[in-house]
Amino acid sequence: MKAQLLKKLQQITEQNLIDIETHKEKGNQAIGFYCLYAPTELAVAANAIPLPLCGTRQDPIEAAEEVLPRNLCPLIKSSYGFAASHTCPFFKFSDLIVADTTCDGKKKMFELMNEIKPVHVLQLPQQQKIDLFLAPWKKEIEQLKQEVENLTGKTITSQDISDAIRLLNRERRALKRLMDVTKANPSPLTGMELLEVLFKTGFFADKEKGIAIMNEISDVCETLSLNNQTPYTPGTPRILLTGVPIGLGSDKIVNILEESGASVVAFENCSGYKKAFQVDENKDPITALAEQYLSIPCSVMSPNPGRFELLEEMISEFSIDGVVDLTWQACHTYNIEAHKIQEFVSDRFSLPYLHIETDYSESDTEQLRVRIEAFIEMI
Ligand code: SF4
Ligand code: SF4
Repeated sequence: MKAQLLKKLQQITEQNLIDIETHKEKGNQAIGFYCLYAPTELAVAANAIPLPLCGTRQDPIEAAEEVLPRNLCPLIKSSYGFAASHTCPFFKFSDLIVADTTCDGKKKMFELMNEIKPVHVLQLPQQQKIDLFLAPWKKEIEQLKQEVENLTGKTITSQDISDAIRLLNRERRALKRLMDVTKANPSPLTGMELLEVLFKTGFFADKEKGIAIMNEISDVCETLSLNNQTPYTPGTPRILLTGVPIGLGSDKIVNILEESGASVVAFENCSGYKKAFQVDENKDPITALAEQYLSIPCSVMSPNPGRFELLEEMISEFSIDGVVDLTWQACHTYNIEAHKIQEFVSDRFSLPYLHIETDYSESDTEQLRVRIEAFIEMI
């Protein structure tokens, strides 16, 4: 049954490109987003399809390195390479690109990307103090709303934004429910399966299709758990993955962990639990968006207390046996924050911790396998 649903997910994924084309043929728009901090509700409110664009594959990096320095985060190079080589259908579909001033590499890359397609860059505060930074951040969101209105020719009302918040809250509840099925011990879902669902549903033009398939998979997994059906044997080490975002194509760590006998049950990064928040449905919608998005606990915030709070919650709720902290090469914010994360995991929870710095290539796979196998054995 789980296999059938994963096959259905693949069919919807293939149909999705046609769905986006059909939507555009009717005169509607698609908007590409590069980071979790940008409120996709504004696209949905204008009947435009929000598309996540962060590059997760190695293939376009060579093209990117013709322009960008080699010593740069692979996510940034992959994102730019896809745009420059015109090989990402979702970038091609996007009528506007929305980005944020998160890390230095990304924001400078967007200046170059703007020469390929218009990029609207949100000036993201680097701190989450509401009294200092909520007002300017709210202004950024209001300006984005204006830009989306100009693009689509649609006036976005407060009601439109509230409806979009409700829809995307439902999507995020389905996401959270799906990610929570792995709280069962042993988990009914492998880390690679969970990653595949999280990644593919992110591109769905029809949000209802994504919500429905995630709930169907959760239903099946919950039944599997009740019947003790699982791909794992009792006692399989349960791993929480924290750090940089990952996706299909940049999944080698999850793969190696599971091939080495672990079960990756929790993704704390912005491709996982960090995006399962709820926006307040009872406030002025722009204020609610500004507050919620500003509170995302990514390492580009300084300080970043929310990541420690989230880790604390997840380590106990998912019965974690070990923490793997992933940093993409040249990502200074996650690399430096790793020191405090290691102290936190070791001192507070006495759990084994492994910090890995790598890129999207396969060149260090065997070296990583040796380190990861030793780590799993230690657990
Ligand atoms: S890691 Fe942080 S900056 Fe990078 S995409 Fe995620 S939220 Fe944005
Ligand atoms: S992983 Fe780090 S360097 Fe790469 S885009 Fe995200 S914050 Fe920037």
